[in-house]
Amino acid sequence: YQAKHRTCRYCLYQPAMGQDMASRLDMAKRLSQAIDDDRLELYYQAQVEIASGRLIGAEALCRWHDDELGWVSPGDFIPLAEERGMIGRLGHWVIEAACRQLAAWRDQGLPLPGQLAINVASQQLDDRRLMQTLEQILRRHRIASSQLCLEITESSFMNDPEQAIAMADALKVQGFGLAIDDFGTGYSSLAHLKRFAADKIKIDISFIRDMLTDTNDHTIVKTIIAMAQNLGLETIAEGIELQAQGEALRRLGCEQAQGFLYSRPQSATHFTDHWLR
Ligand code: C2E
Ligand code: MG
Ligand code: MG
Ligand code: MG
Repeated sequence: YQAKHRTCRYCLYQPAMGQDMASRLDMAKRLSQAIDDDRLELYYQAQVEIASGRLIGAEALCRWHDDELGWVSPGDFIPLAEERGMIGRLGHWVIEAACRQLAAWRDQGLPLPGQLAINVASQQLDDRRLMQTLEQILRRHRIASSQLCLEITESSFMNDPEQAIAMADALKVQGFGLAIDDFGTGYSSLAHLKRFAADKIKIDISFIRDMLTDTNDHTIVKTIIAMAQNLGLETIAEGIELQAQGEALRRLGCEQAQGFLYSRPQSATHFTDHWLR
C-alpha cells in the first residue's frame, strides 16, 4: 500500500513523472544497470565568492546518459531512484565518485579550494548505514570529512524531523560541512532550523529568479539572509544568471553564489581545466 501511495503522490505532483508504468519501469531498470556499470557521471558547478569571483568550492551534480533515452534529467531520475528504492545505491555511487575525484585532484597537486558539495537525499539521511558508507569511502581515498559539504534539502526535515536532526548532528560531529539546500521551499519550521547544526543555507533558485523585479521575492531573500546572519550561518545563493542579481545579493550580505553567470555544471575535465589549472 505504501509503495502505491508513494507512486500516486509522484504522479500527481511531478509532471515529468506522468509517463506510463511500462516506460517508467523500463527507465528504472536502465538506471539500476547504469549504477551497477558505473555509467553515471558527476558534473561540477563552481561556487564563487561574489565580490571577487574567486572559486570557493563546487557542487557535484549527477548526470546520466542512456543509449536509448539520451540525457535524462536528475529532476526525473533522482525521484525515480527514491521511489524504486535505488537512492541508497545511487547515493553510494555519488559519494564514491566524488571522493575519487577529490583524491585525483590531490594526487595531481590541484586540490579544490574549499569544499565539494554533494546532494544527500532524504531517504539516505534516514538510513543509519550512511555514516558507515561515508567513513569507509573517505578512509579508502584518504579524504578528510571537512573536504565534503553535504547538501540536505529543507524538506528532508519534514518526514521525521527528530531522526533527520539526529543524523545531521552526528555528521556534523564527524566534521562534515552541512548545507540546507533549496531553502525556503520546504515548509520546515524555524524551530527545527534552530536545532539543526548546519553551516550554510542555500537560498532556492525560485526566489533568486525574479528578485530584481518582484518585491516579494526580494523581501524573502533579504529576510533569509538576515536570519542566517543572526543564526551565525553562511549563505549561498543558487541560480544566479545576471550580474545585477549577484550585486543585489552582495548588498544584502550574501557573499557566496552559484549559477550560470559564473559557470554551468561542467564535466570533470572541463571543470579541472577551467578552474584548477
Ligand atoms: P540542486 O541540488 O538544488 O542543484 C542545483 C540545480 O540548479 C542543478 O540542476 C543546477 O544545474 C541548476 N542550476 C545551477 N545554476 C543555475 C542557473 O543559473 N540557472 C538555472 N536555471 N539552473 C541552475 P540539476 O543538475 O538538473 O539537478 C537538479 C536537482 O537534482 C538538484 O537540485 C538535486 O536536488 C538533484 N540532484 C542532482 N544530483 C544529485 C545527486 O547526486 N544526488 C541527489 N540526491 N540529488 C541530486
Ligand atoms: Mg544541491
Ligand atoms: Mg538547491
Ligand atoms: Mg534545487
